Amino acid sequence: DLGMPPLGGSVLLADPRGYCAGVDRAVITVEKALDLYGAPVYVRKQIVHNKHVVNDLAARGAIFVEELDEVPEGATVVFSAHGVSPMVHAEAAERELKTIDATCPLVTKVHHEARRFAQEGKQILLIGHEGHEEVEGTAGEAPEHITLVEHPDDVDALEFPEGTALSWLSQTTLSVDETMETVRRLREKFPQLEDPPSDDICYATQNRQVAVKEIAKDADLVIVVGSANSSNSVRLVEVALEAGAAASYRVDDISEIDEAWLEGVTTVGVTSGASVPDDLVQDVLGYLAERGIGDARAIRTADESLIFALPPELRRDMKAAG
Ligand code: SF4
Repeated sequence: DLGMPPLGGSVLLADPRGYCAGVDRAVITVEKALDLYGAPVYVRKQIVHNKHVVNDLAARGAIFVEELDEVPEGATVVFSAHGVSPMVHAEAAERELKTIDATCPLVTKVHHEARRFAQEGKQILLIGHEGHEEVEGTAGEAPEHITLVEHPDDVDALEFPEGTALSWLSQTTLSVDETMETVRRLREKFPQLEDPPSDDICYATQNRQVAVKEIAKDADLVIVVGSANSSNSVRLVEVALEAGAAASYRVDDISEIDEAWLEGVTTVGVTSGASVPDDLVQDVLGYLAERGIGDARAIRTADESLIFALPPELRRDMKAAG
């Protein structure tokens, strides 16, 4: 008897993965608000698009609402990382709510770009997904100026009067390759198109896509941890498949893994979206190790050190409270 059975396979663990600076800040904002003001603290929409994060904060006294009319007059409400339109700020002021804005600074940057292009009289082609909260917030900055473009094929149907000044912006969590294709087709059709001053797809989205491509080309299966409404997580599955993974699935946690996915698989890639706590990824590694796929190796394609300061209105109250 030689003892241990031979190990079945290995794991390529994407790095970077998981929490970005904007999510980290938004989650800490709600935690600090709960400490400082006491429960309940209201949060408009999911603070970040992750089921586990939202459930944990709810258990600690956060109350998640869809719209501000569900928040009692005078209460404290946190705006989610995805940003809100100016109308939401106005409604909060009207209802005398105390607001803490956890909008990611990289989303706020896109809002500024939208306002500036609109002030310059330009029409803005906003590349993004209809109905996503971030798109609603950004479009709300200049509704008269914005046309949503969801897909490269949508470009064909776009029409603007001769001489219209055009610019483009995007949601922060799109597929880089697909967005570049959309822009290429926009520019072909509208040569006057003006670029945004800097990338709208954020560093975290870009880095996670580069990392998943690197592991996907050598993986039989790529497991992406993330929630179904998380745009950047859903993109990671698409990017993994495009990069050559034989199969890729998104799961919220190990309860959603189907053991049949592992049949005949020797190399499993693992990554997670920007709103995913790493303990959920560690659970996946444990699950795989129990099934003989235990040799996990991190594949690092970028170093991330960005940290955002907490919202100034919260820092002020924290300081005042000592
Ligand atoms: Fe900000 Fe990007 Fe994270 Fe969204 S994914 S919260 S834009 S850093």
